[in-house]
Amino acid sequence: MGLRGLTGQGGTAAAAELRDTRGRPLRDLRISVTDRCNFRCPYCMPAEVFGEDYRFLPRKDILRFEEVLRVARLAVELGATKLRITGGEPLVRANLSDLVAGLAAIPGVADLALTTNGVLLPGQAAALAGAGLQRVTVSLDSLRPEVFQHTSGGRGEPEQVLAGIAAAEAAGLGPVKINCVVQRDVNQDDVVALARHFRGTGHILRFIEFMDVGTMNAWRLEQVVPAREIIERIDAEFPLEPVDPNYSGEVARRYRYRDGSGEIGVIASVTEPFCGGCTRARLSAEGELVTCLFAKGGRDLKTPLRAGVSDATLREMIAGTWTEREDRYSEERSEKAGPRKAGERIEMYRIGG
Ligand code: SAM
Ligand code: SF4
Ligand code: SF4
Repeated sequence: MGLRGLTGQGGTAAAAELRDTRGRPLRDLRISVTDRCNFRCPYCMPAEVFGEDYRFLPRKDILRFEEVLRVARLAVELGATKLRITGGEPLVRANLSDLVAGLAAIPGVADLALTTNGVLLPGQAAALAGAGLQRVTVSLDSLRPEVFQHTSGGRGEPEQVLAGIAAAEAAGLGPVKINCVVQRDVNQDDVVALARHFRGTGHILRFIEFMDVGTMNAWRLEQVVPAREIIERIDAEFPLEPVDPNYSGEVARRYRYRDGSGEIGVIASVTEPFCGGCTRARLSAEGELVTCLFAKGGRDLKTPLRAGVSDATLREMIAGTWTEREDRYSEERSEKAGPRKAGERIEMYRIGG
């Protein structure tokens, strides 16, 4: 397969021109390092599905760090500048700092971040920062223990997550981004309390519309709280004003408190899709290269990696997958609304959001 999406000439200058069928460059690689998690959030890994008997991937089927590093290095050569480690819960993967150190050493990585539920951060934040991690995003859906009990699948307390955020800040990984998935009749009323808690701290709270990822979360459009409503609720209490994006293609719409006490963001994936600026590829824990959060599957890179292919061949595989990319699922959602069957879509815990 040739590098059809490459225009321009030679080396990294050419690689930076890699484009998919809609003209979108490859800029971000999200790396899932495990399919396991210490939580059972009903919208991602419902406890009734992921119970005692659930068979997670055997260790041999999960990419080793050196395999991840090889794919990441080639993705960076092809234009990616931002790497994010995710999961499952990435902090349950042993020796994660070793991977961080390897990723941080790749020339051309401008941003190295991690998304976590935060519970294991107190024991790991310093080592991760020392290895070269730059930022963390911590998920927190409610400050109320009874609501958190539900949103974490009975596996955690908000205090543990707050301790994780504090540990990240103390390790120099702040300001922390805090992700809250808002669901109607679950945590819509927590939005203002979260805003109150984090304003003035320097941390950036981001509200995410509940998405129909995977096939197991019984998603219904009525459960989505539109970003506009989230902003109105907060603005009524703490007046807000819009802020320009940090860079073109930024998925979060930014707002700041008019009294100068910080900023928040909303990610309106459902009501205001942003596929046109989507520059993200995902590497699943088992080594599939996935070009959309809503894809059915991805391109298997583990088999060629383990068969000993050359860097040149692997680079062509990654580039070819990107140049063939047509995905714009969120823009098409309204035409495709309805429940999904198992296997019809890749699950969120496999590719990490
Ligand atoms: N375990 C880590 C965590 O929870 O932060 C990393 C993986 S998790 C899949 C990444 C992000 O996806 C989390 O912020 C989570 O809240 C979000 N997420 C999971 N399912 C979602 C859904 N159906 N809609 C919107 N966001 C979702
Ligand atoms: Fe685990 Fe994160 Fe999924 Fe929750 S959202 S079940 S913490 S992977
Ligand atoms: Fe990107 Fe797919 Fe999400 Fe659109 S639906 S923004 S293409 S991941």
